This record gives sequence, C-alpha cells and structure tokens, in this order.
Amino acid sequence: MNVCDSFWLEKALKLRGWESVSEKEADVFLVNTCSVREKPEQKVYSLLGRIRPYINKKKHAFVGVGGCVAQQVGESLWERFPEVRLVFGTDGLVYVPNALEHLAEEPKRRISLLEFAESYPEREKLWTKVSLPSQAYVNIMQGCNNFCAYCVVPFTRGRQKSRISYAVLEECHELVQGGVREITLLGQNVNSYGQDPFGDGVSFSELLSKVCQISGLARVHFTTSHPKDISREVIEAYGRYSNLCPHLHLPLQSGSNKVLGNMGRKYTREIYLDIVRQLRSVRPEISISTDIIVGFPGETYKDFLQTLDVMQRVRFDWSYSFKYSDRPFVRAAKFPDKLSEDVKSIRLQALQRLQEAMTLKSMQGLLNKEVTVLVEGPSSWNNGSYPLWRGRETGGRVVNFNWFGNENIEGALIKVKVTQAKKHSLFGEGVKFYDS
Ligand code: SAH
Ligand code: SF4
Repeated sequence: MNVCDSFWLEKALKLRGWESVSEKEADVFLVNTCSVREKPEQKVYSLLGRIRPYINKKKHAFVGVGGCVAQQVGESLWERFPEVRLVFGTDGLVYVPNALEHLAEEPKRRISLLEFAESYPEREKLWTKVSLPSQAYVNIMQGCNNFCAYCVVPFTRGRQKSRISYAVLEECHELVQGGVREITLLGQNVNSYGQDPFGDGVSFSELLSKVCQISGLARVHFTTSHPKDISREVIEAYGRYSNLCPHLHLPLQSGSNKVLGNMGRKYTREIYLDIVRQLRSVRPEISISTDIIVGFPGETYKDFLQTLDVMQRVRFDWSYSFKYSDRPFVRAAKFPDKLSEDVKSIRLQALQRLQEAMTLKSMQGLLNKEVTVLVEGPSSWNNGSYPLWRGRETGGRVVNFNWFGNENIEGALIKVKVTQAKKHSLFGEGVKFYDS
C-alpha cells in the first residue's frame, strides 16, 4: 500500500513541476512510513537522523512525514524533529501536493493532514496523464475494522472505507488502455470489500470477476485476504478466470486455535486448512504464501509447534514471519505472559528454517517446466554473457532469465524454461514471447 501511495504522490508532484533528485540536491524530503511493527517505526527515526545533515546545509529545506508513523505520532514529530514541517496520514495524502506548494511559499508554516476522511478519499486521476509500468496497484478500500489484538492498522489507517466499484473499475479499464498488463487490487482485508457504510452493494467476488473480465488484462492479483472473510465465490473465481493469477497471500498468523482466539482472528486452524483444500481443488497449481507472528503473548512451545504443523500441512510456498512486538493502542500490549526476545528469536529462526526448506522444494517443483514471466526489468544478477532479465511467473515467484535478443523486453510476457531453483528465485532460459 505504501508503494502504491508513494507512486501516486511522486507522479502527482512531477506533474506539478517537482523533480526527484539526490539527497544532496533536495529541498524537500518526503518519507512515507510504516508502523505495523516496532522495527519499521524505529527505521523512520534513524532515517530522519540521517537526513538532518542535508537539511542543515540548506536554508529552507524541510521534511514531510506521511503514512502510519505520522498518523500515530502526529504533530509531536515536529517537536522532536523541527525540520519536519508536514505530517500526513494515509487519508491526507491527496492534499499533499497543495500543501507542499504552500510550505514552499511560506517557510515558517507547518501543516498537519491527519484527519480521517468521511469516505474513501478519491485521488486525482493521474494514470491517464503519465506513462505507466506494466504492473499497477489499485486501491479498493482504505482502513480496517477487524482490530486483531496485535495490530495498529485500524488506528493508523482508520475504519474500513470501501471505494465505490465504479471508480475502481474505471481506473482498471483506464490502466489497461494505458498499457498495464497486471493489476493488483489492494486493501487491508479485500474480502470484506463493500461490507461497510461506504460500499455500493458490490461484493468483492463481484468486483473481482468484473476486473478479471477486462479485455486485454493479462494478470490479476489481490491482497490482503483475511481467512474469516474469503467466500466460496472468490475461491471459485480461481477456477473460472485464467487471468486470475494462481497465487493467494492468506495470512495464517498462528497455527494454534488458542493463540488465534487470543489474537481475535475469528477462524481456526481447521477452517484455514479447509480453505486451502478448496483452493487447491479448484486450482491445483496455486501458490500460497502467508504471514506468521511468533511469540504472541501467552504462546507456549506447544502452540508454536501447532504453527509449524499447519505450515507443514499447507506447504506454504513462501512466508513472511515476524516476532510479535507491542504496538501503541493495541489490546495485546496489555496481555500478560509476554515472551522474551530470546525465545521469540529462537522460534523465528526455527520457523524460517522450515520455510526455507519448503520454499526450495516448491521452487524445485518448477525445474524443467515452462513458466510465463511478466518482465519487470534487467536482473541484478549477471552471468557475463547474455543480458539477464527479471520478472515474476504467474504464481508470484521471481524468475531471472537469459534472453537471446537485444531488444528491450520490459513489460513483455515471456515463456521461460526453468533450469535452476535457488533459495529465493528461479533461473531459466527465455524461450519465446508468450503472445506469439
Ligand atoms: N491486513 C493483513 C495484515 C496487515 S499487517 C491481515 O489481516 O493479515 C502485515 C503483517 O504484519 C500481519 O499479517 C502480521 O503478521 C504482522 N504484524 C502486524 N502487527 C504485528 C505486531 N504487533 N507484531 C508483529 N507482527 C505484526
Ligand atoms: Fe490488522 Fe487484523 Fe486488520 Fe489485518 S485484519 S489490518 S491484521 S486488524
């Protein structure tokens, strides 16, 4: 979501004549922040410290801080960092271009854009005015109503506000007309799209099927899904639409029913495993990734083993795993039986070792097969002889591959034969254009 927000802001500013430059040259620094865990929040403070010398060298240079840390810490940010003259939350993003113009003209002024909007804050339609990459993110909602016991998101992004379906579909159509081949629908809990006072009666499965039917759209993804809300219709969409990529990110968080209950997740390990079974029966090749928190307050070793057990039953293709950290405002911060950092680290390491072995196995399953790759750009790997390109196959795995031609194939769909499976990516040989 932050990538999507930053992309919009960068384009909006460029259209108004701002330029993106190096730290040395910059008059304005914009920092888009995440506060979902403690670590990313700390990174913001160290980044602000790192920027300070550049600011001090210029007379009117200043910083704008946006996103969840700004929303959470608010105006006290500029008490600690006086060079911060703008704070904006996710709903305030739309006003940033105007605010920057005011701040540039009035060097003594500070602006705070932290109010939550009354409904989904529509942004200026920039996608019809700029050149577009082959992939795009499209917001379908803002905020979240779930209040999972560990999570700061409902406090920093506000309550769930669905965007009207007409606006989502119009954006998708216009993106495809502008050359976009892959769209990812974005929301904190896309499966509850429309189930709030701002919805227009269209459910997520209806929206998804309309997006999948856009002619010329090669790939559709969506994220993030909450297991408690994924409907049978959404699962069936995987069997119905070939351009709905066979990948689902479905955060598990824990494999212990006791911990899931304490987290307020409202599903059990059995329900989760049943969703996976249904998904695989409609789309056997589907890759499934997840988020897992280790060391939630009160998690016993037995609970942790339950998580490893679900991981093994599902055979996740990859996962993002985190040590539980207290966040402001959340219920779990007050829970007893906090675990030590040492125990959390040991559990995280064990979990990640298991995942690495499963990821490698899932990658190896594609050896000698042909996959279709949407090319994102040149690969950072280099084998010396051929140019190497990088992209993702339909299941979401990174693929680096040789291409025999000298043409720029960024944005193309290429059939690649997989010859090597590494820990985090696949390697292969480009065979032909997918469209040819
Ligand atoms: N909306 C998504 C998740 C958004 S937050 C969902 O419902 O799953 C992204 C991930 O950060 C979460 O899935 C969770 O695994 C992790 N996370 C959130 N709060 C955390 C905390 N306090 N400590 C550790 N990890 C946390
Ligand atoms: Fe956070 Fe839960 Fe909402 Fe996801 S569903 S954003 S974890 S409160």
